[in-house]
Amino acid sequence: MATKAKERFTAGLAPGARGEDVTALQDYLEHFGYLAAEDPEHDTFCGPSYPLGDGDDLAVLEDRPDADAGSFDDATAEALRHLQAYAGLRPTGEVDEPTAQLLNSKRCGNADQSELAEFSTSGRKWATNNLRYSLENTTPNITTGAVTMAMQQAFAMWSAHSPLRFTQVAASAGAEIRIRFATGAHAATGTNDPAFDGPGGVLAHAFYPSVPPAPVTAIMGDAHFDDAETWTVTVPPQAGHTDLVTVAAHEFGHSLGLGHSSVNGALMQAFYGGPQRTLHADDISGLQHLYGGVTLRHAAWIHGTGVQVEVDDNVESIRRYGFYTRIIGKPNTTNWYHFAIPTPVIVAGSRLNWHRALLRFVTGSTSTVVRDVHVYDGSSRIIAHQAVNLGGSNAMAVFGVPHKPPVYWGAGISIGVTTGAGTASERRIDLISGGVDFT
Ligand SMILES: [Zn+2]
Ligand SMILES: [Zn+2]
Repeated sequence: MATKAKERFTAGLAPGARGEDVTALQDYLEHFGYLAAEDPEHDTFCGPSYPLGDGDDLAVLEDRPDADAGSFDDATAEALRHLQAYAGLRPTGEVDEPTAQLLNSKRCGNADQSELAEFSTSGRKWATNNLRYSLENTTPNITTGAVTMAMQQAFAMWSAHSPLRFTQVAASAGAEIRIRFATGAHAATGTNDPAFDGPGGVLAHAFYPSVPPAPVTAIMGDAHFDDAETWTVTVPPQAGHTDLVTVAAHEFGHSLGLGHSSVNGALMQAFYGGPQRTLHADDISGLQHLYGGVTLRHAAWIHGTGVQVEVDDNVESIRRYGFYTRIIGKPNTTNWYHFAIPTPVIVAGSRLNWHRALLRFVTGSTSTVVRDVHVYDGSSRIIAHQAVNLGGSNAMAVFGVPHKPPVYWGAGISIGVTTGAGTASERRIDLISGGVDFT
C-alpha cells in the first residue's frame, strides 16, 4: 500500500496571493472550523463538521471570518492565525515553513474549536455508561486479533478514568460505536460522512453522540479509519506507518463527546504526533466533565517487595528495600516482573468488578521503561496494554479494563520491562507497589 504522505501545501503563501493554492488553504481552514464555509457542500476534507445538529454552539460558528474565495485576504490571514495559535505556532498569518509542515501533517478529520483554551466538549454525551462497540471490518496490514487488541487497549484508556464500560458485540448487534476501515468516499445512504483523502493528511474521523435528550442516530459514536494509511500496532512504527492504538483512542474521545484540545500533550490534540498510549490530565478532565468520576467498592495493593522476577539471568542485581524492590537489569535486555495481588473477590456478599490496575514505579532513565502491562484474573489475561513505554517517575500509572468484568480468582499484573544501555543507575527500576481498583 502506498505510504507517501501528501505535500499539499508549500511555504511562501502570504496575504495578497491569489489562485488555487489559496483556495486549497481556505478549504483546509473552512473544513477544520477556522473560516466560515462558502459552500458547505464543497468540502474536500474529511470529517464531520459543525454544526452537527441540535445543541451545537452556533455563536462560535458565526464568529468565524468570511473570506473571498481564492484571494488571500484579511479574513484568510485571521483564520490562519487562529490555526497557528491552536497548534502552538507563531501566529504570522502567512504560510511560513513551520505552518506548511503543520498543514501537510497527519491529523484527525474532525473540526477544531480554536476559541477554546483547553479540552472542549461538544455538549454531547451518551445517556448510558454501558457502551457496546463492534468491528465492522479490519485492515490488511494487521491481523484481526491484533486489531481487536488495539481497540480494547484504546477503550481501556478511557474506561480507566470514568464509569464507562465498553463491551465488544457482533457487527449485526447495532452497537453505539461501530468501527470501520474505509477508503475514499464511504458514506452510507443518507449520512453526512465525508470522503477520506488517501495516504497522509486526514487519518480518521468520528461522530459525536447527541445532546441529550435529542435522539441518537445510527452513525453517532461511529469511528472511521482511512484505510489508505498503513496502520500498525508496532512501536516504534516504521517510517510512514501510523499507530492504530493512538488514533483509535483519539477517535473514541470524539465518540464519547470530546472535541479537540489545544493543550500540548493531550491525546485530543488534532495533530498526530506518534504513539501516545496514555491519557493526559486534560483528556481526563474532559472525560470526567461529561461522565463524572468513579465510586470504588474496594481496592487492593501489594508492596513492590512482593514482585517475582521471570528471567533471573537478565538481572544484574536485585535488592529489597523497606517497601520497594530495586532491580538493575543487564544492558539491552528485556524481562517480565509479576505482582500477585491478594484479592477479596466477594465483598459484602457480592462479587467485585474490575475497574483498573495501578502501578507505582520509578526508572533510572527513559531508556529503561515499562513497555507492556498485562492484567490477569487468575490465569486468564483480561487486558494487554502494549508498548506504553513509561519511564522516569510514575506515581500512579493506571491501566483500564474496558469491559470491567466480575473478578473470579484474583488479580495479577505482569509488566514487561526493557532495559537499555547506560550506567547501572540508568538501568534501574524501583518497583514500589501494584494495585487494583474494583467497583
Ligand atoms: Zn479528532
Ligand atoms: Zn466516515
